[in-house]
Amino acid sequence: MEKSAVVIGGGLGGLFTGAILSKENIKVTVIEKNTTVGGGLQSFTRFGEVFDTGMHVIGGMQKGGNIRRICDYLGIMDRVHLSDVDPNEIDTLYFAEDKTTYRIAQGRENFVNALAGYFPEYKEELTRYVEVLYELVNQINLFYLRPENRGYLITYTEDFMISANNLIDKYISDRKLASVLAYMNPLYGGSKDVTPAYIHALISVLYINGPSRFAGGSHLFANTLRDFIIENGGEVIVGDGVERVYSKEKYITEVHTRKGKVYKADYYICAIHPCTFLQLLDDPTLLPKSYRDRLNEIPNTYSAFTVNLKMKPNTFRYINHTSYYMSRYEDVWGFDRKDAEWPLGFLYMTPPELEQGEYTNKIIITAPMVWDSVRQWEDTSVGRRGSEYEQWKNDCADKLLDRMEEIYPGFRNCIEAINTASPLTIRDYYGVKEGAMCGYRKDCNNMTLSRVPVVTKAKNLFMTGQNCGGHGFCGVPLTAISTSEAILGQNYVLNKINGITE
Ligand SMILES: Cc1cc2nc3c(=O)[nH]c(=O)nc-3n(C[C@H](O)[C@H](O)[C@H](O)COP(=O)(O)OP(=O)(O)OC[C@H]3O[C@@H](n4cnc5c(N)ncnc54)[C@H](O)[C@@H]3O)c2cc1C
Repeated sequence: MEKSAVVIGGGLGGLFTGAILSKENIKVTVIEKNTTVGGGLQSFTRFGEVFDTGMHVIGGMQKGGNIRRICDYLGIMDRVHLSDVDPNEIDTLYFAEDKTTYRIAQGRENFVNALAGYFPEYKEELTRYVEVLYELVNQINLFYLRPENRGYLITYTEDFMISANNLIDKYISDRKLASVLAYMNPLYGGSKDVTPAYIHALISVLYINGPSRFAGGSHLFANTLRDFIIENGGEVIVGDGVERVYSKEKYITEVHTRKGKVYKADYYICAIHPCTFLQLLDDPTLLPKSYRDRLNEIPNTYSAFTVNLKMKPNTFRYINHTSYYMSRYEDVWGFDRKDAEWPLGFLYMTPPELEQGEYTNKIIITAPMVWDSVRQWEDTSVGRRGSEYEQWKNDCADKLLDRMEEIYPGFRNCIEAINTASPLTIRDYYGVKEGAMCGYRKDCNNMTLSRVPVVTKAKNLFMTGQNCGGHGFCGVPLTAISTSEAILGQNYVLNKINGITE
């Protein structure tokens, strides 16, 4: 091990990048401020139950899936505990406006057929729309783990660059069906006229191909990556965040932690929100002012309010998929509207246990929420936000439970205990600006503004995580490959993956 890397942040991005680099003989030290690794993969125990915080449904883990192939390359697949969702009903979507439930099916044909069951006269449009989704995703070599040899001459079709809502409107003429097809936009922090079509296509294709869920808690996967790094000669420090980053002549020289430890390496990888990272720089001129200004100005995706419920034994049946609630069809792109009545909609799920029975012990309800809703408490810290905030959280939980009661009369009687988390919780636990669910908001009107390269003007500093490429369980590991290859050489990791798996 001749070279070394310090990774700042032990979330999905830091752990995947650390795992790849350590497999390729780089001595990795991951530094995580929280007492457990994982970031969005973190789970916590409350009322004797394990609750996941930011990774409820994942794509790319089906046989032949891109993230599964990365796990095969790392050799960790036999340690991963997954539960596939019901292929006949990968999601259900309820619109309160007309009390209609739509059931979404897995696989291209089944997806089209299931929706054509509700909208028979639009089957042709649906078929073409799904074809277009796959065509868009096919333009992204990294998604299919294909080596990239196009240099700077990558061109995309016109559909790739339009907004997600425009893409749907272009191919689907029925208003209700167009809203139904946009149902999973909270999974990518979707914004009307802003989120690029390719992001919608990526997430849609991932889920049409088949979503999975972690069984027993997403933290088990974080621990697997942590153990892999340690087994490969690396170190994973927890409970000690990086407080200062020192540099000289365009090179980072060392990082200091809150507990006063000093770490030095050949390479430094920023796996935290870039705005949080900028505040750690001892000498901000390590990075050009224009770049720093840009990082501070890129808008973030909206955040979320979560209700974690412990259910009384044998009262609520386990549901083997994610469920969505929407009030009105016309609001499906409205989650980032500051003036909107809250909640416009939400997701709820019964996360699978390692040995799942007929009934669930817990339910997680997640509703998109804008940062403005908590702005008045933004200067407070965990446990010290005051009684007004606690009352506000109870009111928010009540609104969500009212809607659950609407779908499941008697729902409140099944609840044993309630825990809530707001955008402030997400900001303070993950260190993410404005508690953004998916980091920076990607913008089809200004693609270069919202895409942060993995390389920087500082010679030994690299970026990774959801703010560079895509977010979530698929986007972040793919960016980890790009970050690793910025150090190891172009296509180095991709060639290895292709040599090992098909
Ligand atoms: C409520 C919610 C639900 C979500 N649901 C899903 C889902 O179902 N499926 C999906 O694919 N995606 C989901 N996401 C998105 C997903 O969680 C993120 O895209 C992903 O976790 C981002 O990974 P990351 O490594 O970039 O950042 P993070 O996971 O945020 O990791 C950053 C890490 O850096 C640490 N850190 C911060 N500052 C410092 C410091 N100074 N020193 C050391 N460490 C530091 C943090 O503690 C954190 O562990 C959800 C997000 C939220 C908020």
